[in-house]
Amino acid sequence: MGVNDVALDADVIVVGAGMSGLYALKVLRERGFRVIVLDRAAGVGGTWFWNRYPGARCDIPSFEYSFGFDPELEQEWEWSEQFSPQPEIERYLNHIADRYDLRRDIRLETGVAAMTFDEATDTWIIDTETGEQLSARFCVMGTGGLSAPHRPDWPGLDSFAGEILQSSLWPEGGVELEGRRVGIVGNGSSGVQAIPELAKMAGHLTVFQRTAAFTWPSQNRPLTDTEQVELKARYRELRAQQYASPLATANTTGAVIFTIADPDRRILESTPDEREAALTEHGFSASRLWGDAAKNLDANEMAVELFREMVRRTVEDPEVADSLCPKDYPIGCKRPVLDNGYFETFNRENVTLVDLRKNPIVEVVPEGVITADGLNELDVLVFATGFDAVSGALTRIDLRGNDGRLLRDDWADGPRAFMGFGVAGYPNMFMIIGPGSVGVLATYPPHIELQVGWIADFLDHLAANGNTHVEVEPEAQEQWCAEVEAAAVGSMFTAPSCNSWYNGGNIEGKARVLPIYLGGLDRFMARARDLAANDYEGFSIR
Ligand code: NAP
Repeated sequence: MGVNDVALDADVIVVGAGMSGLYALKVLRERGFRVIVLDRAAGVGGTWFWNRYPGARCDIPSFEYSFGFDPELEQEWEWSEQFSPQPEIERYLNHIADRYDLRRDIRLETGVAAMTFDEATDTWIIDTETGEQLSARFCVMGTGGLSAPHRPDWPGLDSFAGEILQSSLWPEGGVELEGRRVGIVGNGSSGVQAIPELAKMAGHLTVFQRTAAFTWPSQNRPLTDTEQVELKARYRELRAQQYASPLATANTTGAVIFTIADPDRRILESTPDEREAALTEHGFSASRLWGDAAKNLDANEMAVELFREMVRRTVEDPEVADSLCPKDYPIGCKRPVLDNGYFETFNRENVTLVDLRKNPIVEVVPEGVITADGLNELDVLVFATGFDAVSGALTRIDLRGNDGRLLRDDWADGPRAFMGFGVAGYPNMFMIIGPGSVGVLATYPPHIELQVGWIADFLDHLAANGNTHVEVEPEAQEQWCAEVEAAAVGSMFTAPSCNSWYNGGNIEGKARVLPIYLGGLDRFMARARDLAANDYEGFSIR
């Protein structure tokens, strides 16, 4: 049922035409709401539109990283590999936009500059970067947790005479790199995927590394015809598992990225022979087998040493190998990274590693990057330096709630929200997988389905009761933030040595907060359903 205030441009404005925004449009339109989706990009797909750097692919198994809302869609779509490459996921999302006739309500190349809540009329006023103004009763933010690119502010960067690229803003149509001297900064998931591919394309590749990465071979491969058939026969069962699990994974394959440790296998009690056998059998993954490494820092350090041993066995130059060995933070404190031949790439003749810990940045000059030991001449400089994660896409909007308060100011000490769904002081605004939800820990497409379903039910409820105003109660928000904090105590994510985008530690000056609920998606959604059953406890409605 729609809100039916025809004086407004829409009942609901959805910000973002990525996975969240596309699915929100589909569901809300089916429920009778008039919806407009706005996105800065020239195409749909969000993350999968922007991150088209060489080597970009998903590190969650293809079938798990796809929607389960339509069995026909599942049957007609073929995933070609265990881990889908970016172009395939972008095609999938375009297929969804076409198949469900979504495009007619999507305005591309229309970024949102400002959002202002008008308390007199219970209306959001949206100012776009193209100079338009739109109004809607409700806003749903499908802005993504990893969509506000972060680039370090190195001295002299503007003077660089070559081409500067960002992995998450890679040009459509690609970049000609043959014979060129390319530098890349960053070796998180993006850099680790890009480095082996850039090394094949470039004349020379210089990798500027600040922190050595833990990364494990993805063992990606094509899916066989038999696997395709089996998968399609089992989709309903696998989806049911995903919707009910803590990480939105299925029991069979599991998203290997998170779930490899055996809780009963204890490295602190292992013998040198057992550890050597683990290395022989599992290679890099020998470092991820141990249940005690998740909670005990001594156990964790022993697991890290197995990882280092594999780096030394893989990388031929001992000095390069030493730089590539993680030293000062535990396994599991950052999001795991999967690779396709990352460490082997450093054995190539056309690849140089610059260890910024030993050889720091001095400045950028027209010819390249000067580090402590001299000039690194470059034609192209690629930043794979990550994101102002979780909150950045929202705080970069001039987003004003009650009394003109600015979200950027309210979140100066870290984002605070009620179960990721809403923020006290910002009425009529819902977030899909916002701060304080399970966030990226649960696989996005099924996670989005659960979140959008909950928000759509809430909007239905409001419309059915003629409510025009809904707002998070500050006490409910504070209580939830305290629960999120409590759930994180003792986890590797909050280890003092851990600087990651999970906790804001990836960006200098950003508040250090873990805005991710570690209690699992199953518990989170049960809680969300309880709130709903209890007249949307925690929200004031009128
Ligand atoms: P990231 O994990 O935050 O990594 C950023 C990299 O840039 C780090 O190596 C970081 O070094 C470096 N860096 C940042 N600022 C720097 C500076 N001033 N000087 C030198 N180095 C600097 O970002 P990401 O690789 O884009 O990945 C972010 C997340 O996106 C992933 O964790 C994952 O959730 C998602 N993602 C997934 C996939 C996939 O599915 N395979 C692919 C890409 C991204 P420090 O470690 O020292 O900070």
